[in-house]
Amino acid sequence: MDFKGRTALVTGGSRGLGRAVCLELARGGANVAFCYAGNEAAARETVRDVEALGAKALSLRCDVSDAAQVDALVKAAVEAFGRIDILVNNAGITRDNLLMRMSEADFDAVISANLKGAFLCMKAVSRHMLKQRYGRIVNLSSVVALRGNAGQVNYAASKAGIIGMTKSLAKELASRGVTVNAVAPGFIETDMTAALPEDARAAAQGSIPMGRLGAPEDVAKAVGFLASDEAAYITGQVLAVDGGMSM
Ligand code: NAP
Repeated sequence: MDFKGRTALVTGGSRGLGRAVCLELARGGANVAFCYAGNEAAARETVRDVEALGAKALSLRCDVSDAAQVDALVKAAVEAFGRIDILVNNAGITRDNLLMRMSEADFDAVISANLKGAFLCMKAVSRHMLKQRYGRIVNLSSVVALRGNAGQVNYAASKAGIIGMTKSLAKELASRGVTVNAVAPGFIETDMTAALPEDARAAAQGSIPMGRLGAPEDVAKAVGFLASDEAAYITGQVLAVDGGMSM
């Protein structure tokens, strides 16, 4: 993919899928601004890896559920690189529990980070994309939004909300050169899934027709395609990257 002259903003770029997306875009020549929640060491590693590919990197600590912090993030990215062409809403958390045991605080935390965070970033960035009459927004949903998952009522709600939000904004921006799509990963090897108990991992693997967990790069390639010029006529879509899990 050719992203020369483009600037991308990736949320949650310090680790996992977000880091793989930063590297995929940098490999194509994009300048990459990204944020993270608090893991400075991991963020420095992403900066180093992006720069090793010959691209420019800007890393900022920012809680995506806080509107003032998101506005400051977008301002800093535009000041550094002049524009934002690509937004990848990747930052996300889990607070798993069965409904009867799930606290209101854990419900709110997941909705705030995963759903409100994407809303705030799209709102702050779309102003610039409309002015440019060009933009690519890619939101990270999940296979769980399509199938549900016991113990993830909060997470599934946030990821299903991402799909509704993606399709609605796609309709709002379709005539202005801005596409909005979602990627729905299945079970991908990152810190998020490493936290799962071994029996849950084995059960998940058993439900994947391809018989293996995904790698962050599997998802990053799909995000890169939707963020590219080649995907100009695709909007409002949800692309499952899950080894066939959601069939
Ligand atoms: P991860 O390894 O846990 O990394 C999460 C990233 O998000 C980190 O960079 C973290 O920053 C950042 N982050 C968390 N809360 C934030 C906040 N409030 N503000 C800003 N940044 C925040 O997760 P992952 O597995 O790569 O998942 C990435 C996305 O894909 C998530 O939206 C997740 O729901 C989705 N997804 C993952 C899978 C999977 O199997 N892994 C499947 C489906 C969907 P720090 O490093 O500073 O903590």
